[in-house]
Amino acid sequence: MIKKIDHIGIAVKDLETALKLYEEVLGLKSAGTEVVEEQKVKVAFLPTGDSEVELLESTSPDGPIAKYIAKNGEGIQHLAFRVDNLEQRLAELKEKGIRLIDEKPRYGAGGAKIAFLHPKSTFGVLIELCERD
Ligand code: ZN
Repeated sequence: MIKKIDHIGIAVKDLETALKLYEEVLGLKSAGTEVVEEQKVKVAFLPTGDSEVELLESTSPDGPIAKYIAKNGEGIQHLAFRVDNLEQRLAELKEKGIRLIDEKPRYGAGGAKIAFLHPKSTFGVLIELCERD
């Protein structure tokens, strides 16, 4: 079911400041930034070999990333696995009793189809499943 780790999502307070570390110090290169209105985030993707780092800054104090940072501080917020046929995978997981945050795929940055699994079903890790063309 899992093809690879697609990306690791990191919640940051300030995207520009975080990009300085990842680009100027660690030498990665941002593939661009995008605002995803539905999730109230501004994201930057930094390709790292076969996977990517996703930096997420909240665009609103009541967005999920702002809430995450208020509770946990900045840091790794989710792990994203690449899958094919996301809709079918979600149906299979539901049948196996896995708690889903999204029962249907929704829009993710870069035009991906994404869905989250509930951390209560995944040993405390927020897992995103991600399908790309
Ligand atoms: Zn993500």
